[in-house]
Amino acid sequence: MKQLQSMNRLLLGPGPSAVHPDVLKAMATPLVGHLDPYFFEVMNGTREMLRTVFGTKNELTIPMSGTGSAGMETVFVNLIEPGDKVIVCVNGVFGERMKDVAERCGASVVEVTAPWGQPIDPDEIRKALEKNGQVKLVAIVQAETSTGVRQPLKEVSEIVHEHGALFAVDSVTALGGIPVDVDENGIDACYSGTQKCLSAPPGLSPVTMSDDAVQAIRKRKTKVQSWYLDLGMIANYWGEDRFYHHTAPISMVFALHEALRILLNEGLENVYKRHEDNGKLLQQELQSAGFELLAAEGYRLPQLTAFRLPQGLDDIRLRRELLNLYGIEVGGGLGPLKGQIWRVGLMGHSSNLANVRLFMGALQDILNRNK
Ligand SMILES: *Cc1c(COP(=O)(O)O)cnc(C)c1O
Repeated sequence: MKQLQSMNRLLLGPGPSAVHPDVLKAMATPLVGHLDPYFFEVMNGTREMLRTVFGTKNELTIPMSGTGSAGMETVFVNLIEPGDKVIVCVNGVFGERMKDVAERCGASVVEVTAPWGQPIDPDEIRKALEKNGQVKLVAIVQAETSTGVRQPLKEVSEIVHEHGALFAVDSVTALGGIPVDVDENGIDACYSGTQKCLSAPPGLSPVTMSDDAVQAIRKRKTKVQSWYLDLGMIANYWGEDRFYHHTAPISMVFALHEALRILLNEGLENVYKRHEDNGKLLQQELQSAGFELLAAEGYRLPQLTAFRLPQGLDDIRLRRELLNLYGIEVGGGLGPLKGQIWRVGLMGHSSNLANVRLFMGALQDILNRNK
C-alpha cells in the first residue's frame, strides 16, 4: 500500500474549507483519556468559546459527535415526538434534508417554500402558522449552501414566537462567517459544523438549545428515538456529572478548541468583515466578468457564492481541470442546479484576498482553454 500523500489543494468549495496549520497541529496533540481532568478543562473552554461564537448564554451548548447533519438530527430527534406539527422552510437542499429528518421523527411536516436562490418570505411562515394551529417547531436554514442565499432571521423569529412555537436554525455554513446571534435572534435550537467557516476538519457539530427548548425536551412523553444523539444523556458528560456516555472524539475536540481560539483571537467583528469584504469582491469580479449570480441581490452570503455557468460548458470537465491545473476545488450544483452552477466557498481560513484573485485568474484561464 502506498503511503498517504499530502495533496496541495486549495479548498474553495462549499466545505470542507482550508484548515489552519495550527488546527492540524492541535489534532496531533498526544491523546488523553476522555475522563482526564485535563480534557474536562479543554471541554469547558470549548463550550465557553462556542457560546461566544453562537452569541448565547445557553447552558446547553456542546459539540455533538458527527458532522453537521448529526446536529440537524440532534435538534429534531430531541425536540420532536411522533405526531408533532413542524413547519420546515425549504429553498434548497438543506431545507429538504431537514424535512426528511423531521418526517423520520414522525413529525407532521408543513412545508413553506421559496424558489431556489430566493429567501423565505416571513409572511408565508405567518400564513402557515395561522392555518395550522398548534405548531411545535419552525425550522429554517440561515445560510443555504446549495444556493448561496442568506436568510434574515429576526422577523421570522418574532412571528414564530408570537405563535408559541420553537425556532430552529441551521447555521452550519453561517457560524463563524456571519453573525448567528442566537440569543438576540430568539433562536431556540441551533446547530452547525466544524468544516465550513470554523475551518476545522469535519467531525463535530456544535449545538445550542435555549431554556424553552430544554423544557420541551424535559416534557417529552416518549424517549428520544436515538440513543447516540440523546441530549439528556450527553449533557451529563459535557456538564457537571462527567458521566460516560460515548467516547468523545478527543482529537477533534482539540481541533475545534484551536479553531475557535484562532477565530476569537482575530475577533468576531474582524472575522465577519473579512468574510464580507472578500465575498463582496468575488461577487463583483464575477459580475464584471459577465457571470450571473444565483442568489437574489440583498440576500447573498459572503462565504458562499453560486454563479451560473455559461450554457454548453461541461461542468465536470472544467472542475477537473481547475483541480488538476490549479489544485483548486470548488463545488458544482446540487439537485435541480446540477451541471448549471458552481459554488465557491470563501469560508474561514479560505477567505482571503489572494484566493479571490487566484480563483478569478484560474477561472478565466480554464474558460479560455475551453473556448
Ligand atoms: C454542510 C451543511 C450541512 C450538513 O453538514 P455535513 O457536515 O455535511 O453533515 C447542513 N446544512 C447546511 C446548510 C450545510 O451547508
